[in-house]
Amino acid sequence: MKYQSIIGLEIHVQLNTKSKMFCSCSANYFGKESNKNVCPVCMGQPGALPVVNEEAIKKVLTTGLAFNCNINKLSKFDRKNYFYPDLPKGYQISQYDKPFCYDGFIEIIFDKTPKRIRIKRIHLEEDTAKTIYENGVNKIDFNKSGVPLMEIVTEPDFENIEETLVFSKKLKQILKYIEVSNCNMEKGQIRFELNVSLRRIGESGLPNYKVEIKNIGSISLLEKALNYEIERQSDLLSNGITPEQETRGLDDKSGKTISQRSKEDSKDYRYFPEPDIPAIKLSDKFIHEIKDKLELLPDQLALELVTKYKIDEQRSRTIVYSKQRYQIFINLIDNKNIKSLATKNNCLYDEISKWFVGTILYICNKHNLKLKDVRLNPDEFASILEFLLQKKISGTIFKAAIEESILEDISPIDIVNKKNLLQISDVEELKVIVERILKENPKIQKDLLKNPNSKQFIIGMVMRETKGKANPQVLNSLIDELT
Ligand code: ZN
Ligand code: MN
Repeated sequence: MKYQSIIGLEIHVQLNTKSKMFCSCSANYFGKESNKNVCPVCMGQPGALPVVNEEAIKKVLTTGLAFNCNINKLSKFDRKNYFYPDLPKGYQISQYDKPFCYDGFIEIIFDKTPKRIRIKRIHLEEDTAKTIYENGVNKIDFNKSGVPLMEIVTEPDFENIEETLVFSKKLKQILKYIEVSNCNMEKGQIRFELNVSLRRIGESGLPNYKVEIKNIGSISLLEKALNYEIERQSDLLSNGITPEQETRGLDDKSGKTISQRSKEDSKDYRYFPEPDIPAIKLSDKFIHEIKDKLELLPDQLALELVTKYKIDEQRSRTIVYSKQRYQIFINLIDNKNIKSLATKNNCLYDEISKWFVGTILYICNKHNLKLKDVRLNPDEFASILEFLLQKKISGTIFKAAIEESILEDISPIDIVNKKNLLQISDVEELKVIVERILKENPKIQKDLLKNPNSKQFIIGMVMRETKGKANPQVLNSLIDELT
């Protein structure tokens, strides 16, 4: 392609506070009867006074600190004026020139290279009501009106679709880790807006136009919108036409973007300081308390798995995918029996991480189970792992026992014992089987000296007969001995 994309994101995130932004109505409106989760403040009745939700400010600051932002110690709310049916007051309480957080960054890894995506600002505002079009009538449900909404704005630092998607996934991952939002896309708790423009490869600076695409409800729709829009703009540019500076919407079904209106300037909103809410002074103590509570982020946890436990880097990233997955893994290796096994085996934690990702997560995936719901008792795991390390069972049996334990909700040790799955290491016992197989297959016996495949064939036969329980090393030397 002759063009390079310049992409910026604005992400609206519903905070998971108990109450709404400026009143005491519940912020959890989901599934409630329409217009029952409301009060004069969030209905925008004249004279009703907003009271700021401190919890929401803490969550915005937590996000800002996690994203390496500066904090405005003197912040304020502003009125953003526009007329829309879902906005009962005729303005939205938002933040204009003094957002709580500004000038941060998130590091992403794309093409194995780290890249910093700059965060321009993070501010706090209120969500709007919901308009529902039903049987030719527009209805408004105010239950969502006034839910705390955090807006994160990036600089136009993305140069392609993949970078934008990697960032969006990472952003969601961190927001869930720091527990500021549930980020449920089906419930509309995280929404994306894009601005996209193209410049010729080799050119620098921003193009003289910018197209904004609003209301993108998921990361997969974000990908669709980007694909469509980049192609549309490059077609126009190839024909010598500069795309119009405008706001477009996304048709979820077709993935096409549709022109909505020419873009308004911030001056159209006539921002002015919210007179009903005094300016907000944040003390150093208040900010430090939030900083102290900030736990390690997934990147830092992955690094810790690598350095402290010598676990493979790629696998470490898989393990820290969610806080819950990470905690389940740590819970597993934090077991005293596992720890004592680890003193004798340098790579044990890496070994366990292989089983965790390759077997346990794989089984969950295969059977559509949630990791948190499956039987994964650290003591039981330690015992069966010990069987494996002592070569009492093979890797195949280990996997099978774990799978059955998860599916049947019984201890893997019980499975091994009941089914008599302990490995056969007894030479005499195996000898009988091998000799019989050789007798039954005289041709193979002849072949054995010339053809190494014949040995594999016999091993396969013995394994089938012993249901995989034959100790491979013992079996190997036994066959060599017999031929
Ligand atoms: Zn209310
Ligand atoms: Mn906004």
